[in-house]
Amino acid sequence: MTIDPKVAQFITPLIREYYEKVPVDIERLNEREFGFGSYETKINTRHHAFNNKEQLKEYLVANAPPFVSCSPSFYEKPAARPMEKKIWKGAELVFDLDSTDLNLACQKVHGSSWVCDNCFNAVKDETLKLIEDFLIPDFGFSESELKLSFSGNRGYHIHVVSDAVMELNSKERKEMSDYISGNNINIESFFPNINVRGKRLDGPKPSDYGWGGKIARSVISALNSGESALEEFGIEKKEARKLIKNKTNVTFGITTGNWDKVKIPKKAEFWNNVIKNLTIKQGDSIDKNVTNDTSHILRMPNTLHGDTGLIARKISSISRLEKFDPMKDAVAFSSKPVKIHAINSPELSMKGKTYGPYKNEDVEIEMYAAIYLMLKRVAVLAE
Ligand SMILES: [Zn+2]
Repeated sequence: MTIDPKVAQFITPLIREYYEKVPVDIERLNEREFGFGSYETKINTRHHAFNNKEQLKEYLVANAPPFVSCSPSFYEKPAARPMEKKIWKGAELVFDLDSTDLNLACQKVHGSSWVCDNCFNAVKDETLKLIEDFLIPDFGFSESELKLSFSGNRGYHIHVVSDAVMELNSKERKEMSDYISGNNINIESFFPNINVRGKRLDGPKPSDYGWGGKIARSVISALNSGESALEEFGIEKKEARKLIKNKTNVTFGITTGNWDKVKIPKKAEFWNNVIKNLTIKQGDSIDKNVTNDTSHILRMPNTLHGDTGLIARKISSISRLEKFDPMKDAVAFSSKPVKIHAINSPELSMKGKTYGPYKNEDVEIEMYAAIYLMLKRVAVLAE
């Protein structure tokens, strides 16, 4: 959506000021491709390259671009085109998690371009799940190999910076995203005799590596949370009640790989529900980003996001991510009062203060909130 020219005139000098004072903060800068965007198009020029931080900073101050992107790939000649001429040397493994991919109920109320607290919490949970259920235990990455950042708008980015991933090709990256999405795994590999009548049902133990352990642990945790959690897995009400009554026995059985007490009448349904519950819900978008390593460029950490005015802030650790509040920790602009005309804006909370909802009214609010609403296209500068 186009932006009001007066809004652009107001914000551009503030973007310039931001890049004047904030140091460029990116490793292996001269091996990456850069792209820049306008308020309307996130990337409208790419194939840029810079020799050093000073050169990039100069460009950012001179042009004050609303969006700055760079490649997770490293090249011999990052400015060369077409892509093949760049000569690919390797790439970070990137996960881009966005709340719009979660199909949350609140999005039906506020639309997909708006982000509420519920959206922020859900996408953070999903990011932590990806890190704590997959990247660290299953793939064996260490916390220091995971570079985390806020995307600047609706989600989080994880860059895996490890020698083990740098040279993986698209097919190998696809295998990783399939594993995370739970694609191509089948029930017989965990319950080898599930289709054999009259035999004890053997299954995974909670201490098993990878998916087996995840499945066993999730069923035990459903047992502990009660009947409805078991029913969500497609286990019938009567059966669920029986399992809860025998909880201690059933749990002990699963712990030793004996699933005989668990009757799974609708195998396919049970299996689908278990997998759905444990995977990352953004399989498709993860796939796109993880596998398109040769061409995809995305928001450079610690630059501004032109749809929000927030900083795509680097997050130094998992425990910092747990506490991260984009509407406080990613705010870039000052609290100087600005008069805006709010056209139709949902309730916004920033730095602990609530704004709106506003409808066709002039209000004077802090600059960071004014810019957020204007860049979200729900307000303009007051006449
Ligand atoms: Zn929401």
